[in-house]
Amino acid sequence: MNLSPKNKKHFECSDIEKYVQQYVDNMLDEEKKRLFEEHIEYCLPCDKKVEFEKKFKEVVRLKVKEELPPEVVHQKLKSILKNL
Ligand SMILES: [Zn+2]
Repeated sequence: MNLSPKNKKHFECSDIEKYVQQYVDNMLDEEKKRLFEEHIEYCLPCDKKVEFEKKFKEVVRLKVKEELPPEVVHQKLKSILKNL
């Protein structure tokens, strides 16, 4: 049995940290995505982190698309943080 880190079958919090950007960008391969989702199923802090990254990304996207003024963006980010 190969226990090298490359082949481990569970994600830890540090892995979530490492992959969260790729996850929200939908860039993870099937295996990593599965492990990622498995971890956030039971790890609340990581789940929150992912939730935040998703919302953050959403705001950034809106900002680019609708050219929101900085104060509106700031407001939105603030409300996201408040709801975590
Ligand atoms: Zn975690």
